Amino acid sequence: MAHKIPTIGFISLGCPKALVDSEHIITRLRAEGYAISPSYRDADLVIVNTCGFIDAAVEESLEAIGEALAENGKVIVTGCLGADSEIIRERWPHVLAITGPQATEEVMTEVHRHLPPQHDPHTSLIPPGGIKLTPRHYAYIKIAEGCNQQCSFCIIPNLRGKLVSRPIGEVMTEAENLVSAGVKELLIVSQDTGAYGVDQKYRSGFWNGRPLKTRLTALAQALGELGVWVRLHYLYPYPHLDELIPMMAEGTILPYLDIPLQHASPAILRNMRRPGSSDRLLQRIADWRKQCPDIALRSTFIVGFPGETEQDFEQLLDFLQAAKLDRVGAFAYSPVAGAAANTLPNPVPEELKQQRLEHFMTLQAEISAAKLAEKRGQTLTVLVDEVDESGAAIARSTADAPEIDGVVHIENGAPLTAGEFAEVTITASDEHDLKGKII
Ligand code: SF4
Repeated sequence: MAHKIPTIGFISLGCPKALVDSEHIITRLRAEGYAISPSYRDADLVIVNTCGFIDAAVEESLEAIGEALAENGKVIVTGCLGADSEIIRERWPHVLAITGPQATEEVMTEVHRHLPPQHDPHTSLIPPGGIKLTPRHYAYIKIAEGCNQQCSFCIIPNLRGKLVSRPIGEVMTEAENLVSAGVKELLIVSQDTGAYGVDQKYRSGFWNGRPLKTRLTALAQALGELGVWVRLHYLYPYPHLDELIPMMAEGTILPYLDIPLQHASPAILRNMRRPGSSDRLLQRIADWRKQCPDIALRSTFIVGFPGETEQDFEQLLDFLQAAKLDRVGAFAYSPVAGAAANTLPNPVPEELKQQRLEHFMTLQAEISAAKLAEKRGQTLTVLVDEVDESGAAIARSTADAPEIDGVVHIENGAPLTAGEFAEVTITASDEHDLKGKII
């Protein structure tokens, strides 16, 4: 017997911008196989796109919601009046969901929740989390594109343009779908993750009818509610990063700060067009560790930047020694076609760059080995990435991002599977990795 096509009634009120929103939603509904009905009786649920411009429009919207509830009973509200959800809930507490304007993704999430689309042999082949190239248990989410900074060695702003943040509701819906598909760790990336929402003036978006500011702290808080590991990458050293530390201490997001610093000499940082006072930064690092003793700090540095003197390099080594960062990547400077830094005087000879890089990495290897040795005897929660035929596993602790950081080798053969969390006692360490036993 043929199934009835899921059918939606649609009421569109308000100005042309609201009309465009309605068109987007109806286009998505039709693309996913929903029928649109002009009558309440034939519809399985009704969407009301509201207007909240003046009092008369508010009243008209509230009446339209009431009529749809009386005639059909199942109503999703979207549009400008949805931005003030209290007014709607007060008069009509039984609406299924409320979103603000320009919220096609959120509306579609609610439609799927209350009226799932019919099985489609083409789209049903795509898992709910989308097609991913990472293992099933972790996934990257890109929250923005482009960058408003002007670091002199980088051409990303020329290539990708200014920062454009994705709507927070869309990001959260993607995260929710990934978690439903079995993802245990979300890795949040963009060129400048800390700047998320600046381009949108931190305006509120909606996720499951709940207003959320387009801002990294609000996003981190909401992601933390999904019950999986949340790891933030590429955080430019903005002052507001300090707001993330209490969330790390409470376990809302992982205690892991990936903060590329690039150098420690004020003269070099100036030429890089980057902020920087290494004393102030050391103070911040000490504060972060005080608030969140488990925090793992990851950074990257460039050695041999044009004009880098022996003294600048010594300042960098002193900073490294004092900061005792957990994970460090370093590169010898190499010019990128089109970068402003190419015109700076006094390039460092190639051989000297390589010597400095080696010196830098030797010092960091000692720091890293000493820091990892402190973990011996500790019990850590790890996420298992791989298990071989012998039962030996490779896992990661909260301090280890996939691909770029170290791992925890688990020696003894308790039956583990990839994507599972486990508790291990650390038995050995070197300058990159740990070894542990399942408790
Ligand atoms: S290095 Fe990072 S912050 Fe600086 S311009 Fe490039 S993308 Fe932006």
